[in-house]
Amino acid sequence: MMSPSYRFGFLCDVSEHEKRTAVVPNDVKRMIANGFEVTVESGCGLGILIDDHAYREAGADVVDALDISSIEVMVSLQTPKQLTETLRCLSPGAVFVGIFDPLWMPSSADLLIETKVTAFSLDLVPRITRAQSMDVLSSMATIAGYEAVVLAASRLPQMFPLMMTAGGTLIPARVMVLGAGVAGLQACATARRLGAVVEAYDVRPEALEQIQSVGARAIRIDLEETGTNNTNDRLTSQQQQLAPYVAAADVLITTAAIPGQASPLLVTTEMIDAMQPGSVVIDLAAQRGGNCEITEADKEINHNEVTVLGPTNLASKCARHASQLLSHNMTEFLLHLAPEGKLVVDTDDEITSSMLVTDKGSIVNSKVLAVAKDSPKLAVTH
Ligand code: NAD
Repeated sequence: MMSPSYRFGFLCDVSEHEKRTAVVPNDVKRMIANGFEVTVESGCGLGILIDDHAYREAGADVVDALDISSIEVMVSLQTPKQLTETLRCLSPGAVFVGIFDPLWMPSSADLLIETKVTAFSLDLVPRITRAQSMDVLSSMATIAGYEAVVLAASRLPQMFPLMMTAGGTLIPARVMVLGAGVAGLQACATARRLGAVVEAYDVRPEALEQIQSVGARAIRIDLEETGTNNTNDRLTSQQQQLAPYVAAADVLITTAAIPGQASPLLVTTEMIDAMQPGSVVIDLAAQRGGNCEITEADKEINHNEVTVLGPTNLASKCARHASQLLSHNMTEFLLHLAPEGKLVVDTDDEITSSMLVTDKGSIVNSKVLAVAKDSPKLAVTH
């Protein structure tokens, strides 16, 4: 075994709104087996009922507070803003690995520039086969899609499956899913398993087959009839064509997100007005404004007896599995960064360069730079 050369430090991220952790004991063992030292902050597993003893048994040093200045690589689920003081204590050249959506919130790079930290955000993962094991977007979307259905089922004043009972026949719930990426397809599969009649729509033509493969009916609409490539005209046409499907749905789950951009408005207030009282809308795109006009992030709105929810961290509700996946993704990435036990920031590597946000006091990520140009402070720093 190679001699330990690097210490990975994991902060305790547990709070009222966050039950997940970025590392579980099995992955501590893996990092140690690969020649690294691991320190975790006491209580980091409490959100998933894993105590400090389990981390110690796996070989981690468990400390009350990380000695930040001695850490080469710090990992946390908190945003740079939440970590202001901690980042200021990292030694120059230290590495911060997080998930902080720098395309949507480029100002998060302010502190990373100021502290000259080399920072990676795992939500910039390239969607290529080689990076699948590090894909936190897919991991969290899988959980969010499942949890969205569970949440909707708990709010809907009826069951999902067809029931033929002595008391009469209960018809199955109709679930409609807009956006059939990872979260949407998981929502379709989960709602089908609960016995609902499920329909879904996505702008990507290849999604048709994927929707059918999870047992849902794929809705086809014709956006070419607009005769234009104008985004607004196409969106209006999409809203008009989807309106009757939305009106007939008992549950509507929207998941259409565009990285770094406001979520497209797929469901107008008028469309929600046409839904039956008691219907439930779960808007998984709420973080960036939502797909429904009515959505407010992390709020529950009763709009004419239609419940509209915009949860932004559903994965935390399923914290044990979310942490297991996150920890695996993080570990894969850390081992990718340091394949020989020594950390190398290889900017010729697509995975490394896609997730690298700042290095030595500058934004080095072209996508983040493109969105940061509107932020005067960031533009002058570079
Ligand atoms: P996402 O969260 O970015 O978006 C969710 C879905 O919303 C997408 O399917 C998108 O097509 C859809 N959408 C966007 N605008 C819409 C609109 N106006 N109306 C209806 N639907 C709309 O998506 P994601 O789940 O992160 O996946 C993004 C892409 O990456 C998909 O093409 C997926 O197949 C692909 N992917 C590839 C890999 C890989 O490793 N190769 C892994 C995961 C996902």
